[in-house]
Amino acid sequence: MKQHFAIAIDGPSGAGKSTLSRRLARELGCSYVDTGAIYRTVAYHFAMLGIGPKDTDNIRRFLPDCAIDIDFQADGVQHMILNGKDVTDELRTPEVSAAASVIAAQPLVREYLLDMQRDLARRYSVVMDGRDIGTVVLPDADVKIYLTASDEARAQRRFAELQEKGEKKSYKAVLADMRARDERDANRAIAPLKKAKDAVELDTTEMTLDEAAAALRKIVEGRCG
Ligand code: C5P
Repeated sequence: MKQHFAIAIDGPSGAGKSTLSRRLARELGCSYVDTGAIYRTVAYHFAMLGIGPKDTDNIRRFLPDCAIDIDFQADGVQHMILNGKDVTDELRTPEVSAAASVIAAQPLVREYLLDMQRDLARRYSVVMDGRDIGTVVLPDADVKIYLTASDEARAQRRFAELQEKGEKKSYKAVLADMRARDERDANRAIAPLKKAKDAVELDTTEMTLDEAAAALRKIVEGRCG
């Protein structure tokens, strides 16, 4: 393995990106960067200001007030600091998920976050996950993986996660929201969700978490030694 490396992991929501990426980064002893959390932080910032995710004029006006820091703590969790306050626990609600995917289609938001993501990859060896990491953010990544699973398997995983947190949302609603979000992410004009030409696709539908982690590790080893 090179001393400095970047692994890009893209794919739709619920494909297991964050769990598998975090695990891979731990095994490789590098940083895990969850770029979805960055978009979620921006969405949260504007929700708190009462500005809708489609309100381009006000987003342009107030984006400079959205100061984001990332704190990689020993607990392995990527803490998101918004204007000095840790907002990590506020970011995983269905409302923030939906707003994040709408605001992520705003070119000025993507532009604002691009340097931050590239800078992290310059400073640290990373496993970075998102939607456009292999295609736009890190086109020269050492390994690119496109992680997928069937809609039903992904919705089932998300549903189980929400149930564990005590959130009462039906499986049908989870599936519908997830499809709407995928649709937005894959069809936006800028940096849409898509597999990079040189990415290896890994379908985790029929895999347990351990099997998927092993398959991912094998791809990385095959590419990087
Ligand atoms: O990965 P996660 O579900 O946390 O991402 C939330 C939203 O942020 C996605 O639905 C997507 O619209 C947006 N996103 C993006 N590009 C990335 C990461 C996330 O557009 N690299």
